[in-house]
Amino acid sequence: MIEHLYIHIPFCKKKCPYCNFLSYEGREDQLDAYANYLSNTLTTYMYGQVNDLPLQLPLTTIYFGGGTPSLLTPKQLEKILCGQVYDPPLPEISLEANPATADYVKLKGFREAGVNRLSIGAQSFNDRHLKTLGRIHSSEDVYRIFDDARRAGFDNIGIDIMYALPGQTFDEFKEDINAVLKLNPEHISLYNLEVQAQNFAPLPDNDTEADMYQYAIDKFKEVGYKHYEISNFAKPERECQHNIAYWLNKNYLGIGEGAHSHVDGYRWVAGGEKEAEHGCEKIIMGLRLLEGIAKDNFIGFENEVKELKEQGLLEETAENIKLTHRGLFLANLVFEKFV
Ligand code: SF4
Repeated sequence: MIEHLYIHIPFCKKKCPYCNFLSYEGREDQLDAYANYLSNTLTTYMYGQVNDLPLQLPLTTIYFGGGTPSLLTPKQLEKILCGQVYDPPLPEISLEANPATADYVKLKGFREAGVNRLSIGAQSFNDRHLKTLGRIHSSEDVYRIFDDARRAGFDNIGIDIMYALPGQTFDEFKEDINAVLKLNPEHISLYNLEVQAQNFAPLPDNDTEADMYQYAIDKFKEVGYKHYEISNFAKPERECQHNIAYWLNKNYLGIGEGAHSHVDGYRWVAGGEKEAEHGCEKIIMGLRLLEGIAKDNFIGFENEVKELKEQGLLEETAENIKLTHRGLFLANLVFEKFV
């Protein structure tokens, strides 16, 4: 059974130079046709014409990711959802929003169409860094969309910020953390910029990057956020349920160009061949959660676990194996062991 649905919207006003997501720049005129295509695809799944993939209705979560889903109009969003998947209201329908692409009226329309969680791609509150990143919005736009979202009735808002940006000082990073905390969102995602793009100022060194991460962990914890996944922090009971389904390796269906699916031990990209998943994928996803995953997932990986425990990167609780605090900073080294 599939309770989680991902819908990919592969359009952006402008492509950011660091971005690896599937998205096309300046093709918004195709959104109407694309919404029709998604609606037809979803209808096919809902009414069982794709026999081996029964969607469990009502679904538990839907996630509009991109790309820039906030380029959709509320009407297009309603069309995609076929007016049925969210009746009665779902526990979580998330939509990613770029601050420059949605105003109060649009957000209210999304809310009325059933979206109840907004994920705002702020990335930074520093206009110089936003410019370096090639973002189309300013810090002012972030404050404005947050306020519009609250007024439109969103009581579950996540903000994405990036750290270790080209030329970013520790003080500038602290200012970003303070700015996000002032808004008091229900959820914060904190990602580091992993790629050094051409013509950028140098990235902060590894020690500064680690200090930034530690600073954010401490600050967020101090004001009541739970650090529940390597890059994610939430107020009580505001964890992103859709993403938790990924990390717990649950079944999910992805529709739209380039969307990934995982159902009953098989993974595939929309339109592509199904491939049997490997045991290590479950481990790598599950270890992202701070509580870790059940020990029986590590059968066959006893030597790797022993070695990583000796290095102080993994630890055991009564039921789970999880990253240590040190392991959080060296998670990629841990994951490499299981590949
Ligand atoms: S807005 Fe997001 S999806 Fe679009 S190009 Fe920039 S980072 Fe990529």
